[in-house]
Parts: sequence; C-alpha cells; structure tokens
Amino acid sequence: MISQKKLLRDGKLHIFLLGSGGPMNNDKRVASSIGLIAGKQFLLFDVGPGSYRNVDVMRLPAENLSAIFLTHFHSDHIGDLGEANMLSWVNGRDHPLDVYGPKGVERVVKGFEMAYKLDTGYRIAHHGSDIMSQENAKMISHTISFETTTERILCFNRNGLKVFAFEVEHPPIKPALGYRIEYKGNVIAITGDTIKTTDLITHCKNADILFSEAISYIMLNNIISGAQKLNLERYAKILTDIQNYHMNPLTAAELAQEAHVKKLVFVHITPPLSTEKAEKLYLKGVDEKFDGEIVLGKDCMKFQFEEK
Ligand SMILES: [Zn+2]
Ligand SMILES: [Zn+2]
Repeated sequence: MISQKKLLRDGKLHIFLLGSGGPMNNDKRVASSIGLIAGKQFLLFDVGPGSYRNVDVMRLPAENLSAIFLTHFHSDHIGDLGEANMLSWVNGRDHPLDVYGPKGVERVVKGFEMAYKLDTGYRIAHHGSDIMSQENAKMISHTISFETTTERILCFNRNGLKVFAFEVEHPPIKPALGYRIEYKGNVIAITGDTIKTTDLITHCKNADILFSEAISYIMLNNIISGAQKLNLERYAKILTDIQNYHMNPLTAAELAQEAHVKKLVFVHITPPLSTEKAEKLYLKGVDEKFDGEIVLGKDCMKFQFEEK
C-alpha cells in the first residue's frame, strides 16, 4: 500500500492514535501507541501489542520512522517493538532505528534484536543485501537519565520538533516517563502510566492536547466483586493492585483542568468499553472536573495542528 508521504512535507503537526487501549485485551482497542508526524519526522510513542498494524492501516510512512520513545517497559507499551523495527526496515528505512527510554532500554532493545535475528537473516538471504541492509535493521538504544526527579530533559530536537521527557510515578516501575512535545507553538503532553502528581501538572502545563491514561475504578470494582463471587481470587487481586499506580478518569480530568490544557484525550482505556452504556460510565462526571474539550480515545483517531 502507498504510504501518505505528503504528511511529512506539509509543515503541519499530525497525531495518530494507534492504540487507545490498556492491558486488558479486547476487540475495540489495541494497547498503547501514539504516532506523530512533524518537521519531516515520524515518531512513535510506545508500541503496545497490536498497535503497529495501525501504522499500515492508516498508511503512515513506515519507511520514514525516525525514532521510538518508550514510557516504560510494561508489556502493554513495548510488545510491538520488534514489529516496528522489522516492518519499517522492510519498507525501506535507510538508517538504524533510534529507541529512547528510561534506564533499561538497552536490555529491552537487545532482547528484541535477538528475538528477530533469524528473521532479519531470512529476509537478507531472500531479497539480497542491496535492498535489505544489515546495518539499517539495527536499533540504537538511548537511555534518558535524570539528575533530579523534577527535571525535563530535551532528548530529541530536529527541524523545530522538540521532545522532552519527564519522570512520572508508576511504582514499582522506576523510572517511568511521560513526554512533552513542542512544535511551531503547539504543545502535546503524554502522561504514560502514572498517578497524578504536582510535577505532572507542571509538565502538562498549557498543552494544546493531553493524552492521559485513565482506568475506571468504578468499573474495575464491579468486575472485582463479580470475580470474588466466582472465587476468582487471583484475578480480583491483580485488578485491585493496579489501582494504586494509575489515574481514574476523574483524576485525569482534574489534571487537565489544573494544567490548563485545551483538549483531553483519554487513552490506555481500561476496562474495555464494549457498549455505549460502558462508555458513559467511564466518562461519568469528567465534564464537571474539566472545562475543555474531552475526547474518548479510539484507535485510528487523527488530530492535526497548524502553525500558531
Ligand atoms: Zn504500566
Ligand atoms: Zn500500561
């Protein structure tokens, strides 16, 4: 399929919600991933399982993939790293792929490279090294390290597109990151997985668009009571445990309000919302907490920003 290369050249900022779901698999939403095209660069933020297929579904220019930024190494954020590297290389990427993340990114990258090593070899043997360069199949890991927990680090800066990383609170995962992206006066904030903190409010300040994780605890607790009745104790425990390191939709709406963001997009949506009634319950009360525009994230949604 012919990719939309023109997106790279129109001078605008394009955002693609490739995966709006969380760790609970369902037929509506795949796991975390956001694509961004600006300043002739194509970036991915997280590559959760199943999300890379939407790069093809949305006809994004895979061969121009410049870099991937990981928030942390929970599997719902990294599962498609091997696919992203392999398929962008097969599509004609003419450089190794840069992968940024917190401490530990080197191990994750090495592990995926190892798992895909045989596949890389098959493709070189089959199509020839003239078009399948061994060198370009590589990934290069970049560890983002912090001196203090409150700082914001500029980790990518090309053609006016700036990506800053900051630390978030997702214990016991340490460090876990969020990202703030700036381009031509527009600001995008991505929370990653986290609880709400005063530092997070600062890092999301005045964003034109905030992609915030949110897990509905009301809905999760309904599932937990059902599970307890059925003696599914293991399931009930896991769903109880995850409530201490995420935000619920109301908290995310408070974050958006306190950070004065313009538009809030819910992502990492958990539990799966299979009916309209479930969507309503997930969003219940958020409009009382946040005055701006609220969007329930769905896979393959697009957002576009002009120069300010
Ligand atoms: Zn996580
Ligand atoms: Zn997650």
